[in-house]
Amino acid sequence: MKYLSTRGKAPQVGFIDALLQGLAPDGGLYVPVAWPAFTHDQIAAFAGRPYAEVAAVIVGAFAGEDIAADVISQLCAEAYAGFAHAAVAPLKQLSPGTFLLELFHGPTLAFKDLAMQLLARLYDHALAVRGGAMTVVCATSGDTGGAAVKAFAGRANVRLVVLFPQDRISEVQRRFITACDAENVRAVAVAGDFDDCQAMVKAMFEDADFVAAMRLAAVNSINIARIVAQSVYYFTAAVAVGAPARRVAFSVPTGNFGDAFAGFAASRMGLPIERIVVATNGNDIVVRAIEEGRYAREAVIATQSPAMDIQVASNFERLYFESVERMAEETARAFRAFGASGMLHIPPAALERMRGLFTGAAVSEARTARTILATFNETGELIDPHTAVGVAGALEARITDQATPVICLATAHPAKFPQAVRSAAGVSAPTPPVVAALADATEHVDALEADVEVIKAYVRGFAQS
Ligand SMILES: *Cc1c(COP(=O)(O)O)cnc(C)c1O
Repeated sequence: MKYLSTRGKAPQVGFIDALLQGLAPDGGLYVPVAWPAFTHDQIAAFAGRPYAEVAAVIVGAFAGEDIAADVISQLCAEAYAGFAHAAVAPLKQLSPGTFLLELFHGPTLAFKDLAMQLLARLYDHALAVRGGAMTVVCATSGDTGGAAVKAFAGRANVRLVVLFPQDRISEVQRRFITACDAENVRAVAVAGDFDDCQAMVKAMFEDADFVAAMRLAAVNSINIARIVAQSVYYFTAAVAVGAPARRVAFSVPTGNFGDAFAGFAASRMGLPIERIVVATNGNDIVVRAIEEGRYAREAVIATQSPAMDIQVASNFERLYFESVERMAEETARAFRAFGASGMLHIPPAALERMRGLFTGAAVSEARTARTILATFNETGELIDPHTAVGVAGALEARITDQATPVICLATAHPAKFPQAVRSAAGVSAPTPPVVAALADATEHVDALEADVEVIKAYVRGFAQS
């Protein structure tokens, strides 16, 4: 499979180059030249198979020309062996037509582990083949950083620097990032907010000499390999409730639109998805885009679901590209305009195509808390605030009829957001052993100014150490 840029001005590359580059050199995002397609029978055959085996089939369809099938199988087996649940991503029934897809059984209790565990192994493999080491710099609002630390710690060919905003993430999130003494990992507490961290990473990537000298790489959800890895659980969950003989719906708590776009990818690959609810907190840029046809940035507001406190949903560019029938020039124009003015208009035909699959639902803070309580009262399940946004979104979009089962993505374990869960439900989630162990672990962290030159000097020093 070859990959092309949504902005059309970058050469096509193979899977390994798309993986290692992250962003295309013209500023666009990589998408496959054509989505692989699975037949009805191939999808039906996923039912009952181990998660890692389904992952190997799907990842193989994207990476098979660059990485041998037995290597992909091995990497998938290793990536998912460390999950605390044998099913990796188990389904739990909430009501006759509603299911919870638990994506929080990985080492850092959030769905980011499902892609990051595989991505780190793909990186190590690709660099062993290509030679040399790379430096991954990752800005995190909480969950991505911990997942990256766990996945990359101790890998031979990758150095990892995680930048997190000091005092703006939960204690559990911080400890997942800092409780690591691996030689190849550095955690940096930045005196600033998440936007400062992200802006500095962006500035580093704009310095071509620095990128080349450090061999800088990005593993946030603009990386196509993450989307591919995340499309797997759409298949395993759908076949568990009767697909492909039956159509299914999903509700997806959304920030950067990576997870929701993985659902789009699954649908393009042949999975019969009736509808995907894009559920946001008050940071509702994607919901407004789908409802009003105007993709317009506003100020970020702080919520109980901080991993979704994002106003620029990077992966929306991929959906736009697909919805304008892959016109790269039009996509480049629209997103350059968005970069300059913070706003773009979606052409009517493209908007209709988006609405053919996606429904938006923006969920208030009060509603999120009420959903945590109601879910607990009605089912005994404690859900985290991000998951609650998705469950509330599914109800609001009224697709919970029993003919079409709706699968709500549970993106974090409730123990990761203990205050919000306790204040909504009046009870606490039991502390999982991994969280209990963190309390005693030594934290390794450097504190730095929110100054890109300071961070660059730090990265340079680390790369040369
Ligand atoms: C990252 C994250 C999300 C949002 O996922 P996107 O792919 O950015 O839309 C939702 N919930 C949790 C817990 C997360 O960590």
